[in-house]
Amino acid sequence: MNKDEMKRLNFLLEIYVDVNVDKDFSVLSKNTDPFFIVNMSGQLVYVNNVCEELLQYSKNDLKNMNLSDIFISSALSDTLAFFNEKQREQLVNFDSKITLRPGNPIDVNVTTFPILFNNEVVGNYVVLKDITMIKRERQLLSEKQAAAGQLAAGIAHEIRNPITAIKGFLQLIMGEHQGEKTYFRIVESEINRVESILKELMVLAKPTKINYKKLDIRLLLDKVLTLMESQTLLKNIEVIKNFQALEVSIIGDENQMKQVFINYIKNAIEAMKDGGKLIVEGIHLNESVHIRIIDHGSGIPPEILRRINEPFFTTKEYGTGLGMLISNEIIEEHKGKLNIISNTEGTCIEVKLPITS
Ligand code: ADP
Ligand code: MG
Repeated sequence: MNKDEMKRLNFLLEIYVDVNVDKDFSVLSKNTDPFFIVNMSGQLVYVNNVCEELLQYSKNDLKNMNLSDIFISSALSDTLAFFNEKQREQLVNFDSKITLRPGNPIDVNVTTFPILFNNEVVGNYVVLKDITMIKRERQLLSEKQAAAGQLAAGIAHEIRNPITAIKGFLQLIMGEHQGEKTYFRIVESEINRVESILKELMVLAKPTKINYKKLDIRLLLDKVLTLMESQTLLKNIEVIKNFQALEVSIIGDENQMKQVFINYIKNAIEAMKDGGKLIVEGIHLNESVHIRIIDHGSGIPPEILRRINEPFFTTKEYGTGLGMLISNEIIEEHKGKLNIISNTEGTCIEVKLPITS
């Protein structure tokens, strides 16, 4: 957008604010949620009283401040990305961090929606909600969950040895026993299931032999896909690899990183009951690598997405409900980020990891 165009839009916004907000009788000025209005250059042109109280700057200071003065620098690039998307002309909601005058940052949930003037977007309403308390509760909850995970992993470890013994003796008895073996088979398959749950649970424990080293992402993904090959072939799934050009490394634990992608690819395969295309994509962007596992399966409905990280939450008859939780923990430990985008056409799991030189 050129300068004159920007000036024109900013002028239109001034008129809009003057007519619609800046008056005592306007409904918006009485809004009890903190909100401000920014123009297309990202400048604050109106701040309501509640917002002034929240930010603790004077109204005069706030006027002409920029989005970059409000949002803390580490949250800024993500935040600006949301604002730039505003051209889509719709309501946008996201979490971010803002700075107050005394300097302490707080967590906020931000809702923005465009201001239309003669069918043109001339600025944005930005409504803030202080979510410091909610964040703190979430943190406490995840600490509790981590503690529960440790406990479960410890128990899993204890149960594994007796289960192995039981399985061994069962096989002995099965060998000696003649005739009907149906019950034995059931016991055996149930023991196998217990074993697979225990194996996944044990990953939850802080692993003792964690080994951080430089990992070539392309190599890692190739190894994982080789591991999964028999399953993709069996399910009639065509794997499309879009990471051949990738030449980046991360610092991480190889087994844990493999576990992450195995979990996602397994889920993708399981979601594509009638086969189809599975895309594994790797993109090098700035200081990070974005790895996407894209399936064309059933998709994840919102009510399931909300619970996806709960331990043992599964929609599958033979699922363990631990894959997403464990992958999440590993990604967090590797300072990565996870994005899940899903609709009825399929699911895209995006893992962003910091790269190393
Ligand atoms: P499990 O695979 O053992 O069920 P997970 O933690 O891996 O456990 O996944 C939890 C649930 O999330 C699954 O049961 C499924 O409903 C849903 N899910 C995860 N990934 C996908 C996907 N790619 N497509 C559709 N649903 C998925
Ligand atoms: Mg799974």
